[in-house]
Amino acid sequence: VPADIRTAEIVAVGSELLTPHRLDTNSLYLTGRLNDLGVKVHAKAVVRDDRGELAAWIRLALTRADLVITTGGLGPTDDDITREAVTDALGLTMREDGATLQAIRERFRARGLEMPAINVRQAMVPEGAVVLSNPRGSAPGLWIDAGRRAVVLLPGPPRELQPMFDHDVAPRLSGRTPPVALRRRVIKITGRSESHVDEIAQPIYTRLGDADVQVDTSILAAPGQIEIHLEGRGTDAHRIDAVLTAGVEKLASALAPYVFSDDGRTLEAVVGDELKARGWRIAVAESCTAGLALGRLTEVAGSSAWVAGGIVAYANEVKTDQLGVPAALLDEHGAVSEPVAQAMASGVRERLHADVGVAITGIAGPDGGSPAKPVGTVVVALSGPRELVKTLRFAGDRQMVRAQSVAAALDMVRRAALSRG
Ligand code: ATP
Repeated sequence: VPADIRTAEIVAVGSELLTPHRLDTNSLYLTGRLNDLGVKVHAKAVVRDDRGELAAWIRLALTRADLVITTGGLGPTDDDITREAVTDALGLTMREDGATLQAIRERFRARGLEMPAINVRQAMVPEGAVVLSNPRGSAPGLWIDAGRRAVVLLPGPPRELQPMFDHDVAPRLSGRTPPVALRRRVIKITGRSESHVDEIAQPIYTRLGDADVQVDTSILAAPGQIEIHLEGRGTDAHRIDAVLTAGVEKLASALAPYVFSDDGRTLEAVVGDELKARGWRIAVAESCTAGLALGRLTEVAGSSAWVAGGIVAYANEVKTDQLGVPAALLDEHGAVSEPVAQAMASGVRERLHADVGVAITGIAGPDGGSPAKPVGTVVVALSGPRELVKTLRFAGDRQMVRAQSVAAALDMVRRAALSRG
């Protein structure tokens, strides 16, 4: 068969996906996997549990796409109508499939249960369809060829759908998809705004690809972090890797020292690796972030090797009693000040017997700002490898200010470690 599957449409079936409470995430997974196989997703839809509407949608999708994938609506109850709708759309008839019925019955028996009569519906198979077994649920998937095109029905639960796509659908697509190789790289940046990063990166983007390798770039911003995604497409994976590596190098050197990772690692993992390499342990004193920084550091598996602990010092008397911040310093400069942040960092380092102390104190808002110290004013300090303190001003709501504060503090540790070899 020549490469006849180049485009796909995805149809998420389920009235619950049209409420404010549920989101179709299956299509994100499927889009990623299809792109990896060289198949472009041209459209996706969410359609309610209505047999006629779904059949009409599938008919329409088949006029445009080589592959139509539905997700959900394969359950045993009356509102599960995907099987019937696809059968209607393709003008097929269904029959009960003995082996499938047996497999569903077995599934119940293995748990000591009788199969309810309604589950017989899940063993109804359109003529010519291939049954895709579902080891994680009772609803089997279906692959139905429709001329040169194909319709694939997958169950709704992501934990059932994902292995079914990988084990049963992807192998069936192989040889039918364009001979495309695809590679991705991500550059992670902190301490610069999105527009700043874009301004530097934009002139580089345009020179990344060549005749053999097409490079697509996108920029993703989260509070305290910017990611540049590079996606290389071509026929030769080694060529793509070479082009992407050169691109990553160009971007990373233009954006240094704000780049903290180009290998997928998170900021906390990079910090952990730097600390571990030097045999250092870190302690964190947090006021406005109240444990968020320590939480991020300890998300890294194995962090007990380089995290001593932390002190949440929200109230001034806790800063004094637990961290040894002189009351006079608090009176004179206020809790959000460079001398206090510095005293918090050295206090936590000494009291928790760590090599590195880091502190965060700030005004996350929405209240508590003043003309001199508006909401978003945050002071981060470092003690140990060197004494450093920095006053920053962040934009955004409370949650964004807190997230940016944590990123700034972790990055301060990263940079201090690097500059000390
Ligand atoms: P089952 O018989 O196992 O329930 P099904 O194919 O009938 O499978 P649905 O009843 O449509 O699946 O959905 C089951 C659950 O799967 C939903 O409650 C939801 O949690 C999840 N789900 C369904 N569709 C999606 C989707 N598009 N994205 C993410 N999750 C989904």
